[in-house]
Amino acid sequence: MKTKKLQTTTEDIQAAAELLRCGELVAFPTETVYGLGADARREDSVRAIFAAKGRPADNPLIVHICSMDMLDGIVSYVPPIAHSLAKDFWPGPLTMVLPKKDTIPSVTSGGLDTVGIRMPSHPAALELIRVSGCPIAAPSANRSGSPSPTTAKHVMDDMDGRISAVIDGGLCEVGVESTVICFDDEETIHILRPGLVSAEDLEPYAAHVYVDEAVFRQIEADAKVASPGMKYRHYAPHAKIIPVDAPDFMAFEAFVASQNAEDTWCLLFDSDPTMSEVPCTRYGDNGKEQAHLLFLRFRELDEQGAKLVYVRMPKKDGADLSVYNRLMRAAGFEVIKL
Ligand code: AMP
Ligand code: MG
Repeated sequence: MKTKKLQTTTEDIQAAAELLRCGELVAFPTETVYGLGADARREDSVRAIFAAKGRPADNPLIVHICSMDMLDGIVSYVPPIAHSLAKDFWPGPLTMVLPKKDTIPSVTSGGLDTVGIRMPSHPAALELIRVSGCPIAAPSANRSGSPSPTTAKHVMDDMDGRISAVIDGGLCEVGVESTVICFDDEETIHILRPGLVSAEDLEPYAAHVYVDEAVFRQIEADAKVASPGMKYRHYAPHAKIIPVDAPDFMAFEAFVASQNAEDTWCLLFDSDPTMSEVPCTRYGDNGKEQAHLLFLRFRELDEQGAKLVYVRMPKKDGADLSVYNRLMRAAGFEVIKL
């Protein structure tokens, strides 16, 4: 199969929408990362997503919508908190897990009776959903396990020949996947995956907001978890990623100097001084900048032949938790604490 490269023009979005209506796979930009889309209602198309990605069948897909009318067609109940959140955070990087209707086949939801729903804010994504008329099931458009793609080139690197088309919308703004939440009851928000929308952002909407333990530690492959995606190793480049929890830059630098391993790189903050012994790249100074650049840097480090990467540890509060979580999962939750 030849993968067509499309732009965000009206004609190209129409061509992509037609491919989706015919049951084909199209990768498209969102504000978080690139998604690998298919009509969420078609079992055959959704199965093709799992095959193209090499994704485990029990890892559910997020369904992308462009209007509240579309939501009514696919979920059976929307709690009042979800209504308020939709009003304030959609379109945007927040996914809500809700009870599904039969229009969404069980292959889309990884066998669950709930489905994750998001209204993305990227204009090309919204337009693609609107023109196709399809709720679009879309996981990140990478091969399962690799870093999520934040450019159309990353999508091609992983998916060329496996999908019908990719729409090029440039570098994604947010850079990490959406915040995924579910509702334990009418007053409790349970954060399954951290993203740009933080626990602090959600606190005004519910009596209780808490973050799932799988965000902080490795979950056994056979464990029963609230969010199946959290148990799989994820987001990792080929290079071995080692987060170093150092009290300051000097301690970090001294540790790296003492290791003197080959093909070693460092991933530093922008404000860190230069290091002479080891090649370095940087990923910003706050959670927003780090989220924007993390996956891009992972892929660049592989291209540069890095085998081992020591990484300055991000913070854990607010949106920074999304970066911490992706980094820890790329590292298999192993950290060097100085
Ligand atoms: P991705 O498609 O790669 O962004 O991954 C989507 C993630 O959202 C999954 O790996 C799950 O962790 C989570 N998710 C999606 N739907 C559900 C659901 N119905 N219940 C729990 N978690 C979900
Ligand atoms: Mg993914």
